[in-house]
Amino acid sequence: MSYAKGLTDLGNGLWAWLQPDGGWGYSNAGLITNSGESVLVDTLFDEHLTDEMLRAMEASCGIRRDLVETVINTHANGDHTHGNALLTGAEIVASEASAREMEAFPPSLMAQLKAAGQANLMGEAGRYFAEIFAPFDFAGVHHSAPTRTFSGTASLDVGDTRVQLLEVGPAHTAGDILVHVPDSNTIFTGDILFIEGTPVVWAGPISNWIAACDLIEAMDPTHIVPGHGPLTGLYGVREVADYLRFVESEAHARFTIGMGPEEAAMDIGLGRYASWRDAERIAVNVDTAWREWSNTPEPTPATELFGRMAKLYYDRR
Ligand SMILES: [Zn+2]
Repeated sequence: MSYAKGLTDLGNGLWAWLQPDGGWGYSNAGLITNSGESVLVDTLFDEHLTDEMLRAMEASCGIRRDLVETVINTHANGDHTHGNALLTGAEIVASEASAREMEAFPPSLMAQLKAAGQANLMGEAGRYFAEIFAPFDFAGVHHSAPTRTFSGTASLDVGDTRVQLLEVGPAHTAGDILVHVPDSNTIFTGDILFIEGTPVVWAGPISNWIAACDLIEAMDPTHIVPGHGPLTGLYGVREVADYLRFVESEAHARFTIGMGPEEAAMDIGLGRYASWRDAERIAVNVDTAWREWSNTPEPTPATELFGRMAKLYYDRR
């Protein structure tokens, strides 16, 4: 399947917006239109990228950004929410857990961390943060929070098209949701799917994420739009679940012999997953597993996690 930047027509008024190479910050989004109504699934990492996408949608999909009724945020991360403010007339829908997470990690914090990294104030962690997020303009983002939240399931209508929202988090983040359009059996998965890139388990438990993959597989979708990477099929869904099972088993073997999460992340040989982009995310994934198994609800500071990823990234390069 081709993986070109821009719009892909999925038929029945549904579109995907893809951003190769799908690495840090290069997320996908979706558009659902019917009878002159439109709903956007996620915005992008900054307002320039989101503006570029909205222009393309206005030109090719017959929508007007000021008339988009609803923006659905699949989860709280900035690469799916930072463009919300450009949809001035839209209701912004997210899970309750995602709304809380957005409040705790606003765009201004991303801008501060990047500036600190650029000023060489945070060592290797800062250098890495500034490097991976160099293409994005966080300082220019106007925070726009959800205006409607839900827990569990919700649905909305776009003209005659029914859209179902299924909360499957905490997994990648605290409040991940799947966006399903039953009429055309299309699913926008948000970051429950990273295709040809390494999944990053910020929240966990990993078992919830594997269950979400199993749920997608059971739905047997016709079109699957992942949060990052090219459009995929059930093979891609199984690949993500297999990676997560691999991490769980490799990590657990090291947890039970008393290894620490930092050492374990360095020790695990990634095998065929070493070629997936952003492989250093193993450091976060192992840490999340350790917090679960040691009953440590407090998150590890982001600077610490980015420091561990930096070490793997610069050591292996
Ligand atoms: Zn993402």
